[in-house]
Amino acid sequence: MTSLIMIFGATGDLAKRKLFPSLYRLFSRNRLEKFAVIGVARRSLTNDEFQQSVKESVRSALGNKDNLDEFVSHFYYQSHDVADSSSYVSLRKFANQIDTNYDLEGNRIFYLAMAPEFFGPIALHLKSDGLTDVTGYKRLVIEKPFGHDLESAKELNKQIRSAFSEKEVYRIDHYLGKEMVRNIEVIRFANAIFEPLWNNRYISNIQITSSETLGVEERGRYYETSGALRDMLQNHMMQMVALLAMEPPIKLTTDEIRSEKVRVFRALRTVEGEEVNQYFVRGQYGEGTIDDVQVPKYRDEPMVDEQSNTETFVAGKIMIDNFRWAGVPFYIRTGKRMAAKSTKIVIQFKDIPMNLYYQTDKMLNPNLLVIHIQPEEGITLHLNAKKAGGHLDAQEVKLSFANTGIHAMNTPEGYEKLLYDCMRGDATNFTHWDEVAYSWAFVDRISAAWQQPMATFPNYPAGSMGPQEADELLEKDGFFWWPVSDLEVDVC
Ligand code: NAP
Repeated sequence: MTSLIMIFGATGDLAKRKLFPSLYRLFSRNRLEKFAVIGVARRSLTNDEFQQSVKESVRSALGNKDNLDEFVSHFYYQSHDVADSSSYVSLRKFANQIDTNYDLEGNRIFYLAMAPEFFGPIALHLKSDGLTDVTGYKRLVIEKPFGHDLESAKELNKQIRSAFSEKEVYRIDHYLGKEMVRNIEVIRFANAIFEPLWNNRYISNIQITSSETLGVEERGRYYETSGALRDMLQNHMMQMVALLAMEPPIKLTTDEIRSEKVRVFRALRTVEGEEVNQYFVRGQYGEGTIDDVQVPKYRDEPMVDEQSNTETFVAGKIMIDNFRWAGVPFYIRTGKRMAAKSTKIVIQFKDIPMNLYYQTDKMLNPNLLVIHIQPEEGITLHLNAKKAGGHLDAQEVKLSFANTGIHAMNTPEGYEKLLYDCMRGDATNFTHWDEVAYSWAFVDRISAAWQQPMATFPNYPAGSMGPQEADELLEKDGFFWWPVSDLEVDVC
């Protein structure tokens, strides 16, 4: 790949923890043919100092590497004021010179790894100050959050689109870089045993859990304006719902896949006003114990209001009112300071019409297909089979695939895949504006209903799986959350 990559926010956490190590991995796999990186941020640094910090970030993520000097020789630094045109003009001159030196064919990727309030202004300056006047391709990569509601997202989109076409905008949802999220389509559309069953005749419900044990750490200020609804549901959880629910695309092209996902968003049941509380539950963690360590409540975290009404947990029932999914609840839950760090999808199939086989102590288990997204990656199919040596008793058996060993070691990290996709011009695993707009419209109705009254927080102890109401949400439909701790993938 041939490209000049300009990273705005190159001294920040994301650049250090994710972008530099991912670029290094692409480099070491010979996926960057001709490339240079210009790091841009406010503070003043020499090229040497910047290259040193890139080296350190690669070392801390991946250990020491022989070819680090060669890798960082492609990195340059420019101190920059995002609001000042003259800063962009000198950046343009510098970029043109690097472009010529490295023969980069005028291909340019602008990666905005900065606070979201800068996204729109930077995009406008890139155009007005001539950085987008290139002979090759120009692409804009934008981190989350894309707005904080539909209105602000529209405004941001307007600014961005005045400088870049929709095809040139790569909105990151890093869940779409995860190996097993990308695998959802393959599991569904490459297996004759699943696709015929993938509908309301055979599936009783789908559960998506994304739980963290961490609290807000030092991100209290950001999280206070976001909460679990905006930080997790609007993007990552909705994207997983779309991939699980979409129709098979005609072809595996970006446009076809995205348009099938959009059709799912269009079929979401609208939930608003008082009805919201029948479908969604919010929570905020109180103090508790995680791994034998006492942790404080959310309201005692740094930069958090001591009366905060921000949710650190959300659970919900999402209904997709189309022919395939009518009547099948998609339950989602996500939160901080929960009992386990785990992202899993459980597809629960309907019970067989008549149960001939009783296990000694309980009813026959329903078939489950579990997709393990993180930390472990894999698939488990829960079946019933004859108990060895028994009469005709059935017992649960699990068929597991764990993405471990040599394959997992070679599995590219999410950001690496997304960066590579962007360089190749493949926007399939980035979110299209229509997806963003529909999911904001959905989430805005929930947050409007939660503005008033104030919630009774905290309502779940740190180290639990969320508030009691989240369990009741399923119980009233005759279901329960499959405990994530019982669903571990067997590592072979
Ligand atoms: P961060 O650590 O606060 O870094 C912010 C960067 O912006 C720094 O390089 C900073 O450089 C630069 N900056 C701030 N004000 C500037 C200005 N006026 N002019 C020029 N540069 C300026 O933020 P981050 O955690 O890396 O997050 C960046 C983006 O990625 C955010 O949108 C965030 O939501 C998103 N994101 C981050 C993560 C993560 O793991 N960190 C994960 C997902 C999404 P100076 O200090 O030198 O000015």
